[in-house]
Amino acid sequence: MPELPEVETTVRGLARVLQGRRIASVEARRADLRRSFPEDLGQRLTGATVTSLGRRAKYGLIHTDRGDTMVFHLGMSGSWRIDHATIEKHDHLLLQTDDGTRLALNDPRRFGSVDLITTDELQEWPPFQALGPEPFELDARDLQSRLRGRTAAIKLLLGDQRIVAGLGNIYVCEALYRAGIHPKRAAGSVSLDRLKRLVEGISAVLDEAIEAGGSTLKDFISPDGELGYFSKSFAVYDREGQPCRCGGSVRRIVQGGRSTFYCPHCQH
Ligand SMILES: [Zn+2]
Repeated sequence: MPELPEVETTVRGLARVLQGRRIASVEARRADLRRSFPEDLGQRLTGATVTSLGRRAKYGLIHTDRGDTMVFHLGMSGSWRIDHATIEKHDHLLLQTDDGTRLALNDPRRFGSVDLITTDELQEWPPFQALGPEPFELDARDLQSRLRGRTAAIKLLLGDQRIVAGLGNIYVCEALYRAGIHPKRAAGSVSLDRLKRLVEGISAVLDEAIEAGGSTLKDFISPDGELGYFSKSFAVYDREGQPCRCGGSVRRIVQGGRSTFYCPHCQH
């Protein structure tokens, strides 16, 4: 599943070809993904100029000079392709810019989405309303106050979009490892010092993944057609039974129905 670094990598890749360009044509090749494409998508986007791109949680944002923002989510299997040679079965949305660049949103499993939202009203858009701060904008003291008194496991709360936006399972595991925090520790009992290390760990692990072009995912391809390779440098994620740097071995447990990987020796 595309995680935040893949979305950020995608947005940066799209910005190189879309920023400042006029959208010459829009073709939806089916009516929906997870939900329907906006009925007026073509009408509102055709002829609009892309002013900038951005990201909120795992949503990509394409802002236009008409006061609209196209908001896309890659779901489980979505990716954008640029100047593709052929149109493939799962290319569900095609865009072309005024300089002839062609873009295709491919999504075999169709858990992704495309919406068109008035830019000024993005904050009030229901999926964005309850989102916590971006992982790169986290502040340890603010995090501490939001976790105060919470007895739920820190691992579970870090995966809660209301606490931190868009931080997926892989990065929660890796950041907890870097901060030396046991994934089952009661969230409210983590000291401010440890939370500072956690906030640094979250930024660092995401930065490294973005630098590497996004992580893993067998079928994720960046807009440049390159496979991400960050998975090779995971310290604990998906490494059950393999050695930790400390000489111990990585353990897997299940929390909230999802796998947690950690080192019992390094994390308390
Ligand atoms: Zn260890």
